Amino acid sequence: MDYRRIKRILFVNVFMNCIFVSLQNKEEVLLDMVASGGELGWLTWPDEQGWEIAQQALNGSLLYNYFICNVGAGEQDNWLRTTFIQRHPTATRVFVEMRFVVRDCNSFGADSLTCKETFNLHTSEADADIGTSFRKGQFRKVATIAPDEISGVGDMQINTETRVVDNLSRKGFYLAFQDIGACVAIYSVRVYYKTCPATVKSLAAFPETVAGGENQALREVAGACVENAVSEDQPRIYCTVDGEWVVPVGQCQCRPGYEPKNDSCQECKPGFFKTSVSNEACEHCPKNTEPSSSGALSCPCLQGFYRAPNDPLTAACSGLPSAPQNLAATTAQMAVGKLQLSWSPPADTGGRTDITYNVVCDRCEGSVCQPCGEKVRYDPSNTDLKEISVIISELEPHLNYTFTVEARNGVSQLSPQRATHTINTALHYTDPPKVTAMHLVESSPTSLSLSWSVSRWAKPSSTRYELMYRKKEKDEEKNKVTTYTVLVLEKNSVQIIDLSPSTVYLFKVQALSPEGNPGSYSMEQEFSTPAEVPPNQGNTAVILGAAVGGGVMLFIVVVVLLLRRRRKNSHTRQGPEDAYFSSPEQLKPLKTYVDPHTYEDPNTAVLKFASEIHPTHVSKQKVIGVGEFGEVYRGILKAPGRKEAAVAIKTLKPGYTEKQRQDFLSEASIMGQFCHQNIIRLEGVVTKFKHVMIVTEYMENGALDKYLRDHDGEMSSFQLVGMLRGIAAGMKYLSDMSYVHRDLAARNILVNSKLECKVSDFGLSRVLEDDPEGTYTTSGGKIPIRWTAPEAIAYRKFTSASDVWSFGIVMWEVMAFGERPYWDMSNHEVMKAINEAFRLPAPMDCPSAVYQLMLQCWLQDRSKRPRFQDIVSLLDKLLKSPDSLKAIADFDPRVSIRLPSTSGSDGSPFRSVSEWLESIKMSQYSENFSMAGIVSMEQVLQMKSEDIRNIGVRLPGHLKRIAYSILGLKDQTSTLSVFAV
Ligand code: AMP
Repeated sequence: MDYRRIKRILFVNVFMNCIFVSLQNKEEVLLDMVASGGELGWLTWPDEQGWEIAQQALNGSLLYNYFICNVGAGEQDNWLRTTFIQRHPTATRVFVEMRFVVRDCNSFGADSLTCKETFNLHTSEADADIGTSFRKGQFRKVATIAPDEISGVGDMQINTETRVVDNLSRKGFYLAFQDIGACVAIYSVRVYYKTCPATVKSLAAFPETVAGGENQALREVAGACVENAVSEDQPRIYCTVDGEWVVPVGQCQCRPGYEPKNDSCQECKPGFFKTSVSNEACEHCPKNTEPSSSGALSCPCLQGFYRAPNDPLTAACSGLPSAPQNLAATTAQMAVGKLQLSWSPPADTGGRTDITYNVVCDRCEGSVCQPCGEKVRYDPSNTDLKEISVIISELEPHLNYTFTVEARNGVSQLSPQRATHTINTALHYTDPPKVTAMHLVESSPTSLSLSWSVSRWAKPSSTRYELMYRKKEKDEEKNKVTTYTVLVLEKNSVQIIDLSPSTVYLFKVQALSPEGNPGSYSMEQEFSTPAEVPPNQGNTAVILGAAVGGGVMLFIVVVVLLLRRRRKNSHTRQGPEDAYFSSPEQLKPLKTYVDPHTYEDPNTAVLKFASEIHPTHVSKQKVIGVGEFGEVYRGILKAPGRKEAAVAIKTLKPGYTEKQRQDFLSEASIMGQFCHQNIIRLEGVVTKFKHVMIVTEYMENGALDKYLRDHDGEMSSFQLVGMLRGIAAGMKYLSDMSYVHRDLAARNILVNSKLECKVSDFGLSRVLEDDPEGTYTTSGGKIPIRWTAPEAIAYRKFTSASDVWSFGIVMWEVMAFGERPYWDMSNHEVMKAINEAFRLPAPMDCPSAVYQLMLQCWLQDRSKRPRFQDIVSLLDKLLKSPDSLKAIADFDPRVSIRLPSTSGSDGSPFRSVSEWLESIKMSQYSENFSMAGIVSMEQVLQMKSEDIRNIGVRLPGHLKRIAYSILGLKDQTSTLSVFAV
């Protein structure tokens, strides 16, 4: 039975429905039986009775299939070989897809015994087409192909099977289908390999890539960013054996001006911009910008709008602020030279929050204006102010100022335009300047020339002064009414003539503002006319002379004033029970010292009593001493409108505590209250800056004790007494103000180039802390024992009377050219000696009257001691009649030169000349003695005054000291330490 014929018809009908199968685009087809149409040229073996080809027309096209159905014809081995299939060089793995029908063997009845339902797929590689030569042995089997569904009669099932042929390596290959006795028809054979198609993933383009095979499951493929995209690393991806892209690596991003769209980077549209490399979308142009063109990186600002350097390009452009509003200046509650400017923020901030203000100051005299420059200070600052007010200081009253406040914001620097508000103001102070110090310029028996200084903000040409003066009465307390003469002056100096000789006058002065407002009076100061009375100059009547320096006196008024009631100030250092000051003859102080401690805030005291100096006006030159709080410098003060002056600058060492700062400045608060020729004058303080300073007048010759030691024997008694008179006058002034010094000693007196002596050292803590002579007493506190009155040591009774005791010691120091009081006696020995009524002996060559005054100062009963006023009078008297200084006090060389023992400190004779010289503090002459061949004490004892002079001792004081010592040695008398009164 010819089954083949039957089946050919049947198969054709069935397969018509399924041969149009669309091809995957990931598949590169090497062979397609259906698509090639026509004669395929496949080789069949054996030539006869093997595979046959059938042809059928369908819809105008011809379709072919290979079939075989040798069922019931014994063993079969029929081969159908394809043509040579070229391999793609990288495709090592191909797929073979077969569509076929297999007939159910059961449908062949008796022939079913040898019937098969499978066929085999083979392959053979070759580098070239071998044509029709065919050898079975060259083929290797790939697979046995079995149908999923077998077909019965009228029930045809199409099977599609795909097999992989892997590890191909040669240029091409053949496939062969081996039939071993089945009834099978092959309708389609498709051979293909898989690729990962060219693709763009994450803005990176990857080329089409042949999928790997068994030996390379994932193929790594390098890509490239699409146009206008960039990436830091080269993008990569993997192609799987199934032709799928997996695991893209690296990120491509669109350049500025481009945004990602449809796997590419596209230009931003007009009106949009993109500033950076990113895959963000382009943004709309921000506010106040011009619309951009396409592909814009940013949008330009509209005219009049700007971007600050730190503004992002994405931010809106901003405008300039408008001017500050409501600018106003006030001096209310401001110190002299200060004003406060304030304003409101601008109405238009330009759309920004970073508004700052600059303040510009111009000073105008008449119509001429100039920048205020660095003279003027601004608190907190004049530039980049965030606040809406500023305090301006160091302004000069009565000058016109123009202040311009500019509002700025972050873009102001980009435009020359300014938004300012200006006001003109003059500082009209109701307070006129303060008179700080009055000085005696010249005096004659009938006239006094005075001048005074004012706080530095005064403009001399517009300030007038009111001077009041009167004669000092003998008993002011009883006299409740007193008469003042009032002068209005246009200069800060005056000469008053026709005064009474040898008379004390009291003066006070106040400045008047240009508007005529009075300031406060200066402290009342006294100046005396000297004694010699020229004949007939009149006496009590006070008549005005011409004001010195062209100042004009406007009028004279005689005013009757009630004498100021005695002020009782509980803050003074003096106790109310002090008998010394209760004395009825005592002149009541006209002004009382105020203890800075009574101020709750010690800084207020400094402000009140000391004027603030700007540190740039002070320049330090050289260290001249060291105080408790820091170095003392010599320097120059150059304050505006004032003559350059040499000054001493006391500094506060760095790292100070607030307490130390206050203690340090307390000296200025005290000193600033004084104004006297014999009190060190305070020029001012620097408190508003880190380096705090106290600036005082400069005293060229430094501390008195050292000065005297350096000039031992070089000054006459008259000169020495003159110095003492100055010190006493200063102390009188202090005691009049109820100020008790507590540490009066030659080391605390300063000497200037004119040998004027001035009392110094006023710190509150100084006696306790500062003075190296300070010694702790049993009653507590540190006291300079040798200078201190017994009642002050015993029960801390410090009064002006105890200052008088100290003054007696200073007198002794001065007359002994800086010798140490009580020499090297211990403090304990000193106190014991004093209690036993011993007192220091007269120094060598000390006028008797002066020594007598010392002894008065050292009276045990303090009420019996002279007052400073008495001391000044007595010293004045002595100076007026220099003969009174001629009588010299008894001098005992054995006691006065403190020869602890004429035979050395251990009681044995001096072992050498130098040991002896050292004991009398004359070591500087050791060489003179040895050069002269005087090498033993025996030789010394033979010396006469002339011999001493001849070996080179010239200073009279030194000559005397050495001569007296030899005298004492000859006496062989042991000495007393002190002199019994
Ligand atoms: P004080 O802290 O006041 O004891 O000062 C220390 C040292 O500085 C003094 O002993 C003086 O040698 C020197 N000194 C202080 N003030 C002045 C001054 N006004 N003029 C010159 N030297 C001064």
